Amino acid sequence: MARIKKITQQEVVVAAQALAAQIPFKEAYRVFGIPRGGVPAALALASVSHGRIRIVDDPEEADMFIDDIIDSGRTRATWSAKHLTPFGALFGKRPVAPGAKVGIEVEQDEWLVFPWEGSNAEASAADIPTRLLQLIGENPEREGLRETPARFIKSWLEITEGYRIDPSSVLKVFEDGAEKCDEMVVQRDIPLYSNCEHHMVPFFGVAHIAYIPSGKVVGLSKLARLTNVFARRLQVQERLTNQIADALNEHLQPQGVAVVLQCRHLCMEMRGVQRIGTSTMTSALRGLLKEGEARSEFFSLIGSTR
Ligand code: ZN
Repeated sequence: MARIKKITQQEVVVAAQALAAQIPFKEAYRVFGIPRGGVPAALALASVSHGRIRIVDDPEEADMFIDDIIDSGRTRATWSAKHLTPFGALFGKRPVAPGAKVGIEVEQDEWLVFPWEGSNAEASAADIPTRLLQLIGENPEREGLRETPARFIKSWLEITEGYRIDPSSVLKVFEDGAEKCDEMVVQRDIPLYSNCEHHMVPFFGVAHIAYIPSGKVVGLSKLARLTNVFARRLQVQERLTNQIADALNEHLQPQGVAVVLQCRHLCMEMRGVQRIGTSTMTSALRGLLKEGEARSEFFSLIGSTR
């Protein structure tokens, strides 16, 4: 999860003062606050300007558009496409787009929560699914949807919890009992659920994992745990496959590792090309399992002829 930074009302004033100092000196400089966060931002700016900055309700009359934050830059792009008006914000994520004026610069991975958004980061994030519901033509106030934005945020934090788990913490290796272990350990059909990073739509299937130990083994349940740590992030199947193989390679230092993933991608099935029921297979092979006899043995054990 991004680092949550709660902005106090006092910090809003400081940011407004820093922004006001950059605004060209002109009597009755007119600003328009972009709904919704830009409205309190413009009010704050006007309040520290000793009457020099005036708020207008018509964007056409504005000398500058004001927002609370320049984040992805998308809001700014939408407004700048229609108007040539300069753009300013209390806060801006680094690197700030050229031409924009910001009071205070913040880091990319900071998630700002403004005083007008309430005190709870998840509650302010619930704005996102609420806006999405409006965009698709739904009424977020109807009974069945009233709790949906909060549930949506909660479930997204759960299905992306892998970002907050260190893979090494699930890979406790043990050497006791592994002394004579040099035969391939295979676990088939480990269920996995992930989300594709291009559409944020699920892909799911199974992982087959094998390794040839070299003095270190892990509990079998750990292979499923490890798979989940990487699956519970936004992924492409190829990277997911490689990350599992590389983590095992690093922590077990085995003679060989093989990971095969077989997944169905809902972004291809329920939208786009609508190729229903097809699955995508990816593999990552390391060391002794990369070629020769061990490799063939692995693929025959998992029931594939590759
Ligand atoms: Zn996709």
